[in-house]
Formats: sequence, C-alpha cells, structure tokens
Amino acid sequence: MRIMIDGRYLPGSARVNRDLLITLRNMAKALNWGIRYDAQHELVLINSKDSSMPPLPVSQQADDRIEDENARLAGKAICLDPGHGGSDPGATGPTGTLEKDNTLAIALLLKEKLEKNGAIVIMTRDADADVAHAEASANQGLEARVEAANQAEADLFVSIHNDSFTNNTAAGTTTFHYGDKESTKLANLVQRTLAENLGTKNRGARFASFYVLRYTNMPAILVEVAFISNPVEEMLLSSVDGRDNAAVSICEGILKYFKV
Ligand SMILES: [Zn+2]
Repeated sequence: MRIMIDGRYLPGSARVNRDLLITLRNMAKALNWGIRYDAQHELVLINSKDSSMPPLPVSQQADDRIEDENARLAGKAICLDPGHGGSDPGATGPTGTLEKDNTLAIALLLKEKLEKNGAIVIMTRDADADVAHAEASANQGLEARVEAANQAEADLFVSIHNDSFTNNTAAGTTTFHYGDKESTKLANLVQRTLAENLGTKNRGARFASFYVLRYTNMPAILVEVAFISNPVEEMLLSSVDGRDNAAVSICEGILKYFKV
C-alpha cells in the first residue's frame, strides 16, 4: 500500500492494514484533510489543504469507468459484523451447517465488494473466533462488536445473520433497524435488493431493539439473509453462489443508500 500526500508519494510501501487505514482516516478527519482509499491500486491519497477528496493521479484517470467504480464509496468506512463465531455457532441447519460459517463467508465476500468500490471495511471478526474472548458472556461479545464500530467511527454498521425457527417451512429475508431515519432508509434499500436478487420471501424491513442496533453510533442494520432451519434456504446460505449473491445484493443496497 502506498501513500500519496498532495500529489507526492511518500517513500516506501506499507502492507495494507486495517488499523493503519483507520488511523490515517481518523487523523485526516481530525485535521480536516481529505482522504481517499483506492483499493484497486492499494493507494491512500491525502489532501492536506482541505477536506475535499483528493483527485486520483493522472495515470489512473485514463479509465473513467474504473475510477468511477472505485470512487463510489470513497472515504466511507463500513463496519461488517458476521454474527456469532468461535464458541458460539449460532443456529444449525438440517444438514449440520452452522450460522457462524455462513455469516463469515458472506461478510468476507461483501468486504471484497465494498473495497472494490473504495470503502474502508472494518470487520468485527474475520475468522472463526469469538469477538471478545472464548469465556466472554453473550453481552460482552455484543459490546465488543459495538465497540469496534464506534471506535472506528464507521459510517455504517451491517450485522449479518441467518434466521431460524422450529417450523422448518419458515422462509424469507428480513432486515432490522432501530427506527431512526437513516437506519430505516438503509434497511429498506438492502432488504428490497436482497429479497429481489435472492428470490426469497420479502418479510420486510422491521424495527428491532437489538443491542448492536441500539448502541452503535451510526446508521445500523441487522440482516437475516434467509432461514438456515429451512432445507432449501440452508442450501442458499451454505453454497458459494448463494453467499456471493447475498454479498452482491447487500453491496448494491449500500451503494443505493449513498446515492439517494
Ligand atoms: Zn444469528
């Protein structure tokens, strides 16, 4: 990863690192500098004169389409929260697939897609691990998720889950929000795109008082992609195609949110 300040490259190249990106972004915010991360070229552009986005270097402006793609989420920090993990498997599907694996796989695919659009992505976990620690209570785990988003001053928080019910015919997609205007707007856009693209029953964007929605300082949603307890939807959630489709759809919803 290279860093360019006011059109001049800093010597050396650091490894792409989430903490470094967050630090640079917070520093730029505090100093009222503009900052843009070009994920495709692994380049951080900083404008120390004012907070407007620095333009991409001339050599990269040749391909307008790619520049456009890269810029759509430039300067946005998005916190992704794959539900459960480590000692907490979440719900289990009829053939034994685990919610924690599905949520992580979808979140990692979504991370890739958001970064392609120029976003900085903060993951509450990026492996099969407890977010707090293995012996932590459920509440400590949730606190750690909220803390990650608030500390990074993320612009959005997206928690990913699989729904589950005792009756295995229950099916469909639901997106939850805490009722504030921005979260509701984000939930509506993600919900519609997801249900349409996955072809699942649209159970709507709904209010819920979940801990991770209540205590995050930014627009926040919790997506129940589909029912892991339903044999058909379990396949969707555990298949490569289904997971990718879910990630593409959530990404599309987020892009619409910043456009509208
Ligand atoms: Zn869950």
